[in-house]
Amino acid sequence: MKRLSLSLVCLLAACGGSGGGSTTTPSPVSTPTPLPSNLTGRSVETDAVVGTSAVSGTEVTLTASGFLTLQTSLSLHTNGVAYLRPSTGEMSASAVAPFVFWNAERSVGWPASTTTMTYVLEASISGDAAAVAAVDSTVAKLNSLGMANVNGQRVTFARASSGGSGGVCSLRVDAADADIVRSNLPGWTRYLLSGGVITSCVTIFRTIEDARILTLVAHEMIHGIGLGHTVPAISGVTLMSPTITTNRSLFDGLDRVVATNLSMAFRRRPNTLLTGSTEDERGASAAGFGLQELGIH
Ligand SMILES: [Zn+2]
Repeated sequence: MKRLSLSLVCLLAACGGSGGGSTTTPSPVSTPTPLPSNLTGRSVETDAVVGTSAVSGTEVTLTASGFLTLQTSLSLHTNGVAYLRPSTGEMSASAVAPFVFWNAERSVGWPASTTTMTYVLEASISGDAAAVAAVDSTVAKLNSLGMANVNGQRVTFARASSGGSGGVCSLRVDAADADIVRSNLPGWTRYLLSGGVITSCVTIFRTIEDARILTLVAHEMIHGIGLGHTVPAISGVTLMSPTITTNRSLFDGLDRVVATNLSMAFRRRPNTLLTGSTEDERGASAAGFGLQELGIH
């Protein structure tokens, strides 16, 4: 339940010191993380070491039977590990492709430096305690995943009733919204995109009753992050399948395909061109890191 509309941003070192004359606190010099000399390929599914790697300068090609070949850079894997995606099963590209989707051959996502994502509740929702509670539960769930962006900075989620910083997605109830009327669906999310970069987003619910359904609210808010749908034929009914239920077990126990790719949603560089891009840009490695961090092997 989503549609794309193409169109088309110092902290002053605090003066400290005591007694006369102020002293400037020197800002710490950051030492660049040393690059590994090679990478170990691991299965995104089992974490087992798989395949072989060939290094050429700062580039590495990892191959393993039954897995998609990964061409990547040492700089993207400072911990010396890269994850390979199996060619079949729920962690395969076909299971993940509609979920981690592309637009006009470009990866979709909020700007790479995003560190906050704010869900702004418009007046048609902000006064409803049950709808606000559903949003707050989802914000808490998203924050519990410990997401980081491409630069390794933590991404945090918040609810607001106006303004909002970082990635901002507005939520409203509007039964007359063109997409809601046309699709006759209870929820719909729209993005404004510049290439593959999301510049703004709005989620519309058909009725306030719809905006109180936890699984629907979470589903739409995850669309707001820039993710699509999982594949029922491979992953069954998940929180992000095209058709969901109100059963909160979908929310409480996120399926692996959802949890791993969601937790890495901001680690994927937006606006990357698909043609010529490597499996890495398609998120294999990012998904792997997610597994590790979530510890759900
Ligand atoms: Zn959807």
